[in-house]
Amino acid sequence: MSKLIAALDAQLAQIDAQSLRRRRRITESPSTPRVQVDGRSMLAFCSNDYLGLAAHPQIVEALQQGAELYGAGSGASHLISGHSRAHAQLEERLAEFVAPQIDNARALYFCTGYMANLAMLSALAGSDADLFSESLNHASLIDGARLSRANVQVYPHGDIEKLSALLAASTAAKKMVVTDSVFSMDGDLADLPRLLALCEQHDAWLVVDDAHGFGVLGAHGRGVLEHFNLRSPNLVYMGTLGKAAGVAGAFVAAHASVIEWMVQRARPYIYTTAAPPAVAHALLTSLDIIEGAEGAERRAQLQNLIVQWQETLQLSKWQAMESSTAIQPVVIGANDVAMQVAANLYERGIWVPAIRPPTVPAGTARLRVTLSAAHTADDVVQLVDVLQQLEKGA
Ligand SMILES: *Cc1c(COP(=O)(O)O)cnc(C)c1O
Repeated sequence: MSKLIAALDAQLAQIDAQSLRRRRRITESPSTPRVQVDGRSMLAFCSNDYLGLAAHPQIVEALQQGAELYGAGSGASHLISGHSRAHAQLEERLAEFVAPQIDNARALYFCTGYMANLAMLSALAGSDADLFSESLNHASLIDGARLSRANVQVYPHGDIEKLSALLAASTAAKKMVVTDSVFSMDGDLADLPRLLALCEQHDAWLVVDDAHGFGVLGAHGRGVLEHFNLRSPNLVYMGTLGKAAGVAGAFVAAHASVIEWMVQRARPYIYTTAAPPAVAHALLTSLDIIEGAEGAERRAQLQNLIVQWQETLQLSKWQAMESSTAIQPVVIGANDVAMQVAANLYERGIWVPAIRPPTVPAGTARLRVTLSAAHTADDVVQLVDVLQQLEKGA
């Protein structure tokens, strides 16, 4: 066998030895709480489709209509010929959507949130910048910070005192604080009002990744900035459109000058083919739903399920994390035990992902339960019952 392949196989065997092998299950139906997997209907608590829009008939219809209007592919990058009327409309609509929170707002649409984060950080920070990164930030922010070549300083989760000291000591020409709004594996919220006050005091950007807040938080679903009622020229906001918005892609919203700079300079924006215009077209319908009465109803339903989960789940060995969001992790500890619990749930027809290192710190392997407005109160009763039974038997 080739030495190269043998070396990789040895590394894969190590992954197995630590119970860290990941495998993909193949789904055969739309992403809903009753998802068809390997010919079986499963009750799923895995997706980030927090409002239950991923299979919404009006959005599916808009996607079909978009394909009829614009075809299948965009054909080129945005700066060549791939920027369609649908992309332009979506960006205008997104800018209006976040306008109450951002001065002179403009929005830029991306194929994925991962790319939006690479683009945002690499365009705004360079080797002359100090970039202060929260320790539980999403991998895409970490990679964006690396790509930017900024001097990266990681501050401990939620430790604003420490961040304050780091900012005070910085003599860099540009300063930037980067944080998730809702931490994706813990479900808790960053203290954005205090972070923003600190950034204003130090003339620093506050870059917020609202992947798990956009559509869900705030009275109109405008996200975490609406939730905390924040507005500042120092804010750079990233929201994703493949989670609560139910479709795909992401956007950065900020002062028009920030966005224009990104159009001119952000390589992950410039050197990639634009997303299919039909996707942008479908997102216009998704935004209408999020902002309208139906969105408000879906957010209220999600909130009811979160309260039900917190009030009914009783655990002694395992630990439900403190979270007010749709992300409700249950920390189990050891990788192999977490895997076994997830397998036992699966046998009983319930699909909850086990999250292991390196996604979470060693020794904190967990079930990551995500609730959706498409779940019913009965679905939550089932999960709570089975989980409590499994804990007793563990
Ligand atoms: C999902 C996620 C992203 C990436 O967004 P995609 O559109 O899935 O690429 C970025 N940041 C956070 C916090 C996320 O949870």
